[in-house]
Amino acid sequence: MTLSLYDTASRNLQDVKSTDGVTRIYCCGPTVYRDAHVGNLRTFLLADLVRRTLEISGHTVELIQNITDVGHMSEDINETEDKMLAQASLEKTDPFEIARKYESHFHLDLNRLNITAADKYPRASESILLMQEMIAELIRTGFAYVGDDGSVYFDARAFASYGAISGNRLDALKPGHRYEYSEDGAKRFHADWALWKAAGNRTEMVWDSPWGSGFPGWHIECSAMSLHFLHSHIDLHIGGIDLRFPHHENERAQSNAITGNEAVDLWLHGEHLLFEGRKMSKSAGNVVLLKDVIEQGFDPLAVRLCLLENRYRSQMDLTWQSIKAADMTLKRWRRKIQEWGVQADVRDSQFISIIENDLDTPKAIQYLRAVEKDESLTNRSSIFLFADKVLGLDLSRTEDIKPLSATQEDLLAQRDIARNEKKWSESDQLRVQLEETGLDIFDTPDGQKWAWR
Ligand code: AMP
Ligand code: ZN
Repeated sequence: MTLSLYDTASRNLQDVKSTDGVTRIYCCGPTVYRDAHVGNLRTFLLADLVRRTLEISGHTVELIQNITDVGHMSEDINETEDKMLAQASLEKTDPFEIARKYESHFHLDLNRLNITAADKYPRASESILLMQEMIAELIRTGFAYVGDDGSVYFDARAFASYGAISGNRLDALKPGHRYEYSEDGAKRFHADWALWKAAGNRTEMVWDSPWGSGFPGWHIECSAMSLHFLHSHIDLHIGGIDLRFPHHENERAQSNAITGNEAVDLWLHGEHLLFEGRKMSKSAGNVVLLKDVIEQGFDPLAVRLCLLENRYRSQMDLTWQSIKAADMTLKRWRRKIQEWGVQADVRDSQFISIIENDLDTPKAIQYLRAVEKDESLTNRSSIFLFADKVLGLDLSRTEDIKPLSATQEDLLAQRDIARNEKKWSESDQLRVQLEETGLDIFDTPDGQKWAWR
């Protein structure tokens, strides 16, 4: 068995391949003008799950994730404004300062969510030359042209299989359809897009180029960085579903035009995270950050568990209630693993076959819930800890135990006596009182046990 994933282009499950023994993965990274919300993190977690699943079966992975610190135009603030520049003027600071600040927050969040670091995080602003070389090559080979406005455009009609990922064929794309942020009238065809934008009156984040001062388009950044850092072939390309079109469609056209073949084997898209019923986004105003979760007193890995309870391919709705429930589950699992004690390592083929089947994390969680209840198993902690290599929930962590209050100690002692005297209704009443103080009570063959909820 090997990992198979749903490829957006072929609409089929496809085995993940490797090239020269290494699986090369590119995941579209954050636009660093604000903190990543847990929706963005859901997409970044997808790359981590793929990586961990391949690695437990001994595969070697190389993962590149770009940092978009220039060129991503904003749809919600002002169509012609760069997200970085808009935020810099809002925070009254230099755009590069904004970029570095939110880039460091991004790494902190990945860390909090146990997302394994990529092998490299190239920045768009430091890859300008790579992009310019690629643009020059596209002009030379007839895939791009310099417009009257000094910007360089990709000639969509020169690329025959445009639309293969999203199904949006050129003849069906109507002028005026809002499939690309606005560009001036210098394009020859409405579906063409800018590779290099003339600076106009923009003075910040601009670079010299053979076509005059300007800045790169967003799509060319991912073609340039993926082909350069992954040596001209990408086994697996990951991003959120909203990037399928136009971002990935345009990226595919650019990259294939350069390599002369299919540059990406498998296009993997994660579905959106909703919060209380609506897509989580800054413009919808329903953004939840990991730091909000921590401020509410929850373990950020409770969010990771919530995300795992849904398969990456379905939309999911997150609520505070589900985060709270996941937080309790995590605490219970960690406590039980300590109770079950250290056991010999297992390589659990049942777990592997669940996870290798298109990352069926909800089934993996159900499987663990069944293992938890199965008292006939003698290696429950090993099974959990093996699964944790992929799930990344820190299940071997010993929870810091908050000391009991004097009242709780007293109630527990009274309940112990009531149980010894078989006074069951009194013992039940005491349980309710203890639960009201935030404890969970468990009656085991070795007597009553408690845990903070
Ligand atoms: P951005 O920082 O806006 O460039 O987005 C980074 C990644 O997050 C992209 O792959 C987006 O597709 C993804 N994304 C944005 N919103 C959501 C959401 N609500 N749920 C899941 N992924 C999202
Ligand atoms: Zn990208």
